[in-house]
Amino acid sequence: MNQKQSQDTICIQGGWEPKNGHPRVLPIYQSTTFKYETSEQMGRLFDLEENGYFYTRLANPTNDAVADKICKLEGGTAAMLTSSGQAANMYAVLNICSAGDHIVSAATIYGGTSNLFTVTLKRFGIECTLVDPDAPREEIEKAFRPNTKAVFGETIANPALVVLDLEKFAALARSHGVPFIVDNTFATPINCRPIEWGAHIVTHSTTKYMDGHAMAVGGCIVDSGNFDWEAHKDKFPGLTTPDESYHGIVYTERFGKGAYITKATAQLMRDMGSIQSPQNAFLLNIGLETLHLRMPRHCENALKVAEYLKSREDVAWVKYPGLKGDAHYELARKYMPHGTCGVISFGLKGGREAAAVFMDRLKLAAIVTHVADARTSVLHPASHTHRQLSDEQLVEAGVDPSMIRFSVGIEGADDIIEDIRQALE
Ligand SMILES: *Cc1c(COP(=O)(O)O)cnc(C)c1O
Repeated sequence: MNQKQSQDTICIQGGWEPKNGHPRVLPIYQSTTFKYETSEQMGRLFDLEENGYFYTRLANPTNDAVADKICKLEGGTAAMLTSSGQAANMYAVLNICSAGDHIVSAATIYGGTSNLFTVTLKRFGIECTLVDPDAPREEIEKAFRPNTKAVFGETIANPALVVLDLEKFAALARSHGVPFIVDNTFATPINCRPIEWGAHIVTHSTTKYMDGHAMAVGGCIVDSGNFDWEAHKDKFPGLTTPDESYHGIVYTERFGKGAYITKATAQLMRDMGSIQSPQNAFLLNIGLETLHLRMPRHCENALKVAEYLKSREDVAWVKYPGLKGDAHYELARKYMPHGTCGVISFGLKGGREAAAVFMDRLKLAAIVTHVADARTSVLHPASHTHRQLSDEQLVEAGVDPSMIRFSVGIEGADDIIEDIRQALE
């Protein structure tokens, strides 16, 4: 089909395109391996000379169909699934960084990603400078070094709910000749397509809205194909010079716009193996089939809840970028005019202690280490997801110790509000 399809149609029909007599629904290729007639044919697959499946760690038809759907939703050229969002962000960076390299990241990012960048990658010799995403461009500019290889940020930060000024970060990346990597987990391609605003690589924790039902942990990396690795050859030798571990292949020469994802699959997935199980990819695909219906409802409910919280005397502050007057309202209107996400954060006047009491009293909203699924859920980042961070790091990550992260589901908005009311009173 040549006509540009709507996101609604891609959600339902993108990816799996059955031919005559094939199963209508994406099958689960629950097989680690694939059979060939000749040994030579198998050899060509190992040489990346032919496309084909031989071992699920490297490629599986179920996974490929789902990756293709997400790729189309984001408007990219190639994509791969990973076992989790953590694996997606790790691969996105490791695919272009080695010991001695450096990245610049918005400080307001997911706690797990913050640990990955500042603790674990540091042990691998990769350094990260965290910057205030709201700082002026000239200020962020100072974080760049000659060995900087990427800029990273989240479209809507989890849990700080800061909306990233995508054009500002894209301009910084362009002027320093490095790719701009955006974690688009919270906005999803239904509400924002970062590639249209200059992002080069988009990552996802598909565990959140994409799955949407809290069934399967997963991740995805989408490449726009828009970064010119050859133009910055000296910075990215892994893509532009022979890979000795793959018969001297030069990824950019052989695969063009597919270079980045092919390298991540052939090298990182081969050696580190964080593949998504086909069973999980199948579940993810079911989630994706309703993403375009669920996102607007999450946003509609979240706005009602945010307005209710704002109206209460016992609530000290509310942060929701879809709420008029919010510090990131204007950026949200620019980059995601149809809605942001279903996650709200707020603090009670009683602070940290009141937060615990409030959460224990909730009946409909469940205390779970999760966000962004159909069921309303609640979490206290300072005592849960961000427990490892010091108070100073909490502030840097945009997490107030009193912060309650409230993930508004797609139940009836009145029932969610009633649950909050009874818990507060
Ligand atoms: C949850 C999350 C991750 C980590 O994803 P997992 O699937 O839990 O590994 C990364 N980034 C963001 C923005 C997230 O919300």
